[in-house]
Amino acid sequence: MRKLLPFTLFIFIQSIVVAQVNPAAKYASIVSAAELEKHLSVIASDSMEGRETGTSGQRKAAAYIEKHFKSIGLQQVPSLNGYQQFFPIKQDSIQQVSFSAANEEAVWGIDFISPVSTNESSSFGSNNLVFVGYGIEDDLYSDYENHDVKGKVVVFFKGEPQKKGKYFISSDGSASIWSDGGTGLITKLEIAKSKGAVGALIIDPYQPNFNSQTIKRSKKTSLYYPTAIDESNRINFVYITHEYAMKIIGADFELILSVVKRKELLNSISLYKNIAIAYSYKKYAEVINASNVIGVIEGSDKKDEYVFLTAHYDHLGIQNGVIYNGADDDGSGTVTVLQMATAFAKAKKEGNGPRRTIVFMTVSGEEKGLWGSEYYSDNPIFPLEKTSVDLNTDMIGRIDTERKTADTLNYVYVVGHDKISSELPLVNEAANKNTTKLVLDYKFDDPKDPNRIYYRSDHYNFARKGIPVLFFYDGMLLADYHQPTDDVERINWRLFEKRAQLIFYTAWEMANRNDMLKRDKPLPEGSR
Ligand SMILES: [Zn+2]
Repeated sequence: MRKLLPFTLFIFIQSIVVAQVNPAAKYASIVSAAELEKHLSVIASDSMEGRETGTSGQRKAAAYIEKHFKSIGLQQVPSLNGYQQFFPIKQDSIQQVSFSAANEEAVWGIDFISPVSTNESSSFGSNNLVFVGYGIEDDLYSDYENHDVKGKVVVFFKGEPQKKGKYFISSDGSASIWSDGGTGLITKLEIAKSKGAVGALIIDPYQPNFNSQTIKRSKKTSLYYPTAIDESNRINFVYITHEYAMKIIGADFELILSVVKRKELLNSISLYKNIAIAYSYKKYAEVINASNVIGVIEGSDKKDEYVFLTAHYDHLGIQNGVIYNGADDDGSGTVTVLQMATAFAKAKKEGNGPRRTIVFMTVSGEEKGLWGSEYYSDNPIFPLEKTSVDLNTDMIGRIDTERKTADTLNYVYVVGHDKISSELPLVNEAANKNTTKLVLDYKFDDPKDPNRIYYRSDHYNFARKGIPVLFFYDGMLLADYHQPTDDVERINWRLFEKRAQLIFYTAWEMANRNDMLKRDKPLPEGSR
């Protein structure tokens, strides 16, 4: 107690001084540790089930945020029904599949599987089967040389050969474009299609049978964000077991398999079979709505310009029966947006409303791949060119366990300060200078930093559209990051409050300054 007293007095005196010069100080105090804790103890409680996108937990969190926005009188976007901007996500499962060779029905899971993630609803059939090695063709090597596969079914092995003779695919064991982990499979299916093949049978040299995990994964995809991928330029396929391969290829199979296991070339092998192959496939896409929750405070004389305050309210859900509460990630950012909304709403009621319109947007789908912010930025409600800035908050309630310097209790990482607008650091640093006095650490803007933090949260989807962004972050990459132990009990409230207030002060200035932020610096390079 004795140690705390002088600190408390200091804050008290300081806030009186600030209040005289800056009306923001009065409202910043609303963004208090006590209020943040009140919200976070709900958002990061077990009742929210870890807030995984597309689940009831996510919908509960959205309802909580919506209720808060309503209770403080935020405006709804007229084109939306309520405060939620829904966006479709999908999950595919197999509805029907059949595969036969020589008029004999093969058994799913025993003889073959046909993964739902890479096959479409369609059928194929042929009386001709052609062996095409690894199914590879590039400038140096072709498995299709001297083979006519038009109208036929091809059979090939997963993987790739290594350096032999004049050919060079990969000699050091590192992955090439043909590797199974990357786009190799898709590229092979596209080549087969371009050669006129109607379907493919694929053999994994190292998996004679299918284990239960492989079978399970092949039936149903994870939730995914639908993008415009053109599947029409590739063919459907089945994986077959070694036993089944032997049945249709014959005794040569063992010999060829030993060549594959030595990673040698296969393009000198000619193997044709006259055998009736028939395949049909039907899959079903379940569409699930996820949402961004959006509330608005209309500006005064600059109401056609916008300041976005964002955070993601989704987290990792329940895994193996354990709830991932995500108190810091990103419960902390979510409740910061909620409490900033309360503060700005109060300011507006008292005649101190913002000049620009402020859009409070909590998004979902972040943990899956920044889906909610991608959807918003591709389907914007407010003109992107009139959006002055996005201040994104993702994890500000903890202390970076790797940070050992003296300011451990008084820092925040600010990311994106040197990109898109030269005015970003000026506004943020000025807001900090006379108020929160945090150490603003730009370490993650170092191009040599390997973490690529700039690409890893929702502000990136604003940046890629040319909107200046700042991202506020505590640097927690170890300890409880994406662990079930990311709980409310581990939040450092005093530091959390300071950082949240800094973002509020910065937002205040962004919403009230005379001009929108200049866009005088190049867009960030690369992509996530
Ligand atoms: Zn996060």
